[in-house]
Amino acid sequence: MKVGVLALQGAFREHREVLDALGVDAVEVRAPEALGALDALILPGGESTTMSRLLDTSGLREPLGEHLADGLPVLGTCAGLILLAREVEDGRSDQRSFGTVDVTVRRNAYGRQRDSFEADLAVEGLCGGPFRGVFIRAPGIERVGPGVEILASHGDRAVFAREGVAYVTSFHPELSGDLRVHQLFLERGSLL
Ligand code: GLN
Repeated sequence: MKVGVLALQGAFREHREVLDALGVDAVEVRAPEALGALDALILPGGESTTMSRLLDTSGLREPLGEHLADGLPVLGTCAGLILLAREVEDGRSDQRSFGTVDVTVRRNAYGRQRDSFEADLAVEGLCGGPFRGVFIRAPGIERVGPGVEILASHGDRAVFAREGVAYVTSFHPELSGDLRVHQLFLERGSLL
């Protein structure tokens, strides 16, 4: 099993470390050639506008879009959620998303950098107590389509959701020192 981490920008190293800790073969993805051998992919947090631009210049946009449309299991966290969303509010006019998950997200919905926070989240199907969610300039999930399952909420917003094999979080599960969200994603995809 090989799990890719999109490594154009952002918190890809931290995801890689989680995969290493889980004993999963991790590959940093920077070019289209890396996509063929993957069983799953993680789109990390960072800056969605920059990642959107780098997806175009790296030549990854089109082949990655095809793999996602073909059902490649994917986990998008924070900026990665923005890149997988059907609709993006408060985006820059030139940023584009794949539309894999039928949600509407609003960039920086929880405020600026100084408004970053942590919260205990009750995650559907996760044993062993709440998961500590780290929210950094987090996108807010404002609308959830009928085919989307909500796995965790904070206040009245979903913060962890799934459509088919595509999982999205508005928080950073790679920063909690807790492997369980990655584990859930990989186990549900029969990758662990
Ligand atoms: N606000 C960032 C964006 O719009 C996302 C923040 C993050 O990934 N930590 O891309």
